[in-house]
Amino acid sequence: MSKMRAVQVTRPNGPFEIVEREIPEPAVGLVRIKIEACGICHSDAVTKEGTWPGIQYPRVPGHEIAGIVDAVGTGAAGWTAGQRVGVGWHGGHCGYCDSCRRGDFVTCQVAPQIPGIAYDGGYAEYMIAPAGTLALIPEGLSAVDAGPLMCAGVTTFNSLRNSGARPGDLVAILGVGGLGHLGIQFAAKMGFKTVAIARGIEKEPLARKLGASHYIDSQTHDPAAELLNLGGAKVVLATVTSGKAMSAALGGLGVNGKLVILGAADAALEINAFFMIGGRRSIMGWPSGSSIDSQDTLAFSKLTGVRAMTQVFPLERAADGYEHMMSGRARFRAVLTTGR
Ligand SMILES: [Zn+2]
Ligand SMILES: [Zn+2]
Repeated sequence: MSKMRAVQVTRPNGPFEIVEREIPEPAVGLVRIKIEACGICHSDAVTKEGTWPGIQYPRVPGHEIAGIVDAVGTGAAGWTAGQRVGVGWHGGHCGYCDSCRRGDFVTCQVAPQIPGIAYDGGYAEYMIAPAGTLALIPEGLSAVDAGPLMCAGVTTFNSLRNSGARPGDLVAILGVGGLGHLGIQFAAKMGFKTVAIARGIEKEPLARKLGASHYIDSQTHDPAAELLNLGGAKVVLATVTSGKAMSAALGGLGVNGKLVILGAADAALEINAFFMIGGRRSIMGWPSGSSIDSQDTLAFSKLTGVRAMTQVFPLERAADGYEHMMSGRARFRAVLTTGR
């Protein structure tokens, strides 16, 4: 019982290798998690492809982790073996930079630690994480459901709740994909008048089922004009990676409206400065959240029934799951399970 299976990458663009490793012991301040499920995120590509500076290989990817506290290192207060926990994009911070001293751990300037990038992540049966990065999974929420909420979930939930939009406001979710299908659900459950924007009409029935009261096909309609017809958006949550699509929706912001960017854009945005000034409009980015934000996401999802649509792959099929995710065929999140 001292060995575990893990899926590692040994060099940039190298294959996923399933290997047997020693089960790690938690040092001071750290906790060992027996992993039940780990979502596959597009950002796992930075480990697979080696595009994140300073990655030490071999590395086990994965930052959408759900499991059970298995062993607690000395000084890791607040957690006991047997608790169900998740770990997400925010997997640690330096504790002494200006951001950390302001309690804003996610924007740590010195050593932001992302599981699967800074240290071994969730494509394994066990992992070690700092105690302060754990989020409690509420009873009744499965590990497969909790995993994707630890990155895709907290990013959409936390950005929406900090966007300044209030119940009844018009909020548009740009993109109906891995992030967008969660964004629509959260926006609707938060009481926003929710608009989904996507290319084509294929996704309209699903978007409406997820809670959108309006749907804009950006292939046949100008999303900016349509949003203005509806009164102008308080928030456009951009979950796509197309700078062109973001630019096309920007003009749909109402007075004091905000474009909130979650997807890394492939091209520069086109901005009409006069339009931005005249209506006090703004653009901001939003980076996930801390462990308590993740815990809030899990609790809200349990409460309101928000769930990621998932396709499950066993750990040994990590390569297939990753391929499925990256090709855009996943509807909408791929999740690895360990059988633990
Ligand atoms: Zn992610
Ligand atoms: Zn810091």
